[in-house]
Amino acid sequence: MHPIIRNDIANLQKVVKDHLEGGQSILITGGAGFLGSWLCDSLVANAKVACYDNLSTGKPGNVSHLKGNKNFVFKSVDVASKWNTNQKFDLILHLASRPSPDDYQKHPVETLAVSTQGTRNVLELARRSDSRILFASTSEVYGDPAIIPTPETYWGNVNPIGLRSCYDEGKRVGEAMCMAYHRQYGVDTRIVRIFNTYGPRIGAKGAYGRAVPRFIVQAINGKPVTVYGDGKQTRSFCYVTDTVSAMIRAVLGKKGKGEVFNVGNPREVSILDLAKTIIRITKSKSKIVYLAEAPDDPQRRCPDISKARSVLNWSPRVGLNEGLKRTISWFRSESN
Ligand code: UDP
Repeated sequence: MHPIIRNDIANLQKVVKDHLEGGQSILITGGAGFLGSWLCDSLVANAKVACYDNLSTGKPGNVSHLKGNKNFVFKSVDVASKWNTNQKFDLILHLASRPSPDDYQKHPVETLAVSTQGTRNVLELARRSDSRILFASTSEVYGDPAIIPTPETYWGNVNPIGLRSCYDEGKRVGEAMCMAYHRQYGVDTRIVRIFNTYGPRIGAKGAYGRAVPRFIVQAINGKPVTVYGDGKQTRSFCYVTDTVSAMIRAVLGKKGKGEVFNVGNPREVSILDLAKTIIRITKSKSKIVYLAEAPDDPQRRCPDISKARSVLNWSPRVGLNEGLKRTISWFRSESN
């Protein structure tokens, strides 16, 4: 394991220890994905972790080091299809989804299915086994927001038939499904709306990669850095340990039942500035090239995290420069 991941995981395990008594059984759907695998690593020292993943976008390599750990089991499960388990879980963290815009736009039906039927299947399991469940939602439920920074009370501005709707509307249904199970059956559901997160293990392959990993791989290979549109569109990038720490607090905290929390770093940056920062940190000779704007691309994205600050006693700790340095170091080691 890369020393940066090892060190970051050790710190997250301390957060888990502060919040979890130990010995619980936890299901993580999408556990072989980027965020899911960080959660597996963070929780496995204190709990029995079942990782369910259909490996559509998750990678076996993200959890292969946990093979043989008596607290860990991997199962190939597509949560959107019919699946049965007699096992009961104390906690369920439901992350299964295709998160990358290029990828989910190529698989819109599966993308909708996992957030809608998949979420219902997982909620049924939570109801049967009386487990608490955390749903990994997204800043995309806000669409192209009219209010920046965006609070949880904002209802969103989503194109229901647009290219992103399979993801945005799917996650909105997933949230509605959580609230329905909470209201009708009393299930302890919690929702986190995750804003752009980056860090070691984030996928970078081809057009499926997100802006941060694509720019890093382009910059360290001296290739043109591809900015879509004029690069004035903004995002707020949160380092993985900050996002995972918020998820742990949201699912284990005493005050999260039936609640929704924005999780992200409130520092808003333009995509052009992000490209320049990555070129600077990697000391790359890459040039920036401007390509066609991505269709339906939200123009600004920045979370209001007052609620997570006050209720979960959480705020991000890793700044963009530091987080990028760690991520770049990991990408360099991966390409060797
Ligand atoms: N982007 C870009 N070049 C790339 C990949 C992404 O300019 O090679 C832009 C994309 O159009 C969007 C932003 O970077 O405005 C963030 O894209 P990403 O796919 O990381 O996530 P999103 O926030 O759109 O889900």
